[in-house]
Amino acid sequence: HKSVNAVLAGLNAGLARCFSRRLRSPVNTLRMAIVQRQIAPFYQPFMDARSGQIAGIEVLARWRHPLYGYVSPDVFIPLAEQHHLIVPLTHLLMEQVVADLQHQIHRFPLGTYICINISAQNCLDPGFECDSRDMVRKLNANQSHVVVEITERHPLHFTPQLSEWFAALRRANISLALDDFGTGYSNLAYISALNPEFIKIDKLFVSQIGVSDDTRLVDSLIDLAKNMHLKIIAEGVETKAQADHLRNKHIDYLQGYYFSKPLSASELIHQVAAG
Ligand code: C2E
Ligand code: CA
Ligand code: CA
Ligand code: CA
Repeated sequence: HKSVNAVLAGLNAGLARCFSRRLRSPVNTLRMAIVQRQIAPFYQPFMDARSGQIAGIEVLARWRHPLYGYVSPDVFIPLAEQHHLIVPLTHLLMEQVVADLQHQIHRFPLGTYICINISAQNCLDPGFECDSRDMVRKLNANQSHVVVEITERHPLHFTPQLSEWFAALRRANISLALDDFGTGYSNLAYISALNPEFIKIDKLFVSQIGVSDDTRLVDSLIDLAKNMHLKIIAEGVETKAQADHLRNKHIDYLQGYYFSKPLSASELIHQVAAG
């Protein structure tokens, strides 16, 4: 009967449409990108505020899409978080960081910080603990110092298991930085629960310096961190006026376009070799 064939054909077409739509959905494109290693680490140096020397580098994910070019992590990190792809993505990045730096780390100043951004989903993952130990070992524990940056923009669920997970990292000589300080939830609760070594003052506050004469907000965030004996990294430093203001406030480290944009691995190595 003709209608059976018609129904089958319709079903097939529907399935095909459904399938191709699925394949082309952003999350499937991201899944493919992870498998095909289209996501690579870039590196933004940050400076010792006093000496001006490079003190560390932050690893920032970059997606080089074959058609769309660079896709911002502000787009694909939330997507990865929503679809539980952060764990494989972080694993891929850490593998590449080791490959990029393993034979180059001797060019960097002793004790250079290597900062990795993590999401709430990385917490409690034993695979991350493993990868970060591997990184510490392969990047020579004396030559570099691995730091994990955790943002306070997303809520963390503080449990004894979470404290133990962070304690295990600390035992492996991995430090903790509280990222985006001042923008998220209950900063003080985060500080007392996580006991970080560093805080990163968000660029939102740094950008106020030089725009308005009122620097009370950024100044009091700095004072707060200093009173708690935390090392401070200011991010998003774009002008000399901002760098000067922050140096006058005796901030430890400065990061931003004024000093360097995020660089590819080869650009980073060139820059370090040059100066
Ligand atoms: P973030 O951790 O706060 O990183 C700082 C962002 O500010 C980066 O954006 C950096 O390129 C940008 N930036 C640096 N200096 C300046 C400056 O002087 N001015 C301005 N306007 N911006 C500056 P990017 O690379 O687009 O990353 C955006 C966010 O995506 C990061 O914010 C971080 O939260 C997230 N992210 C990036 N890579 C990873 C990753 O591997 N894992 C996770 N979980 N999150 C990541
Ligand atoms: Ca960060
Ligand atoms: Ca930040
Ligand atoms: Ca930020």
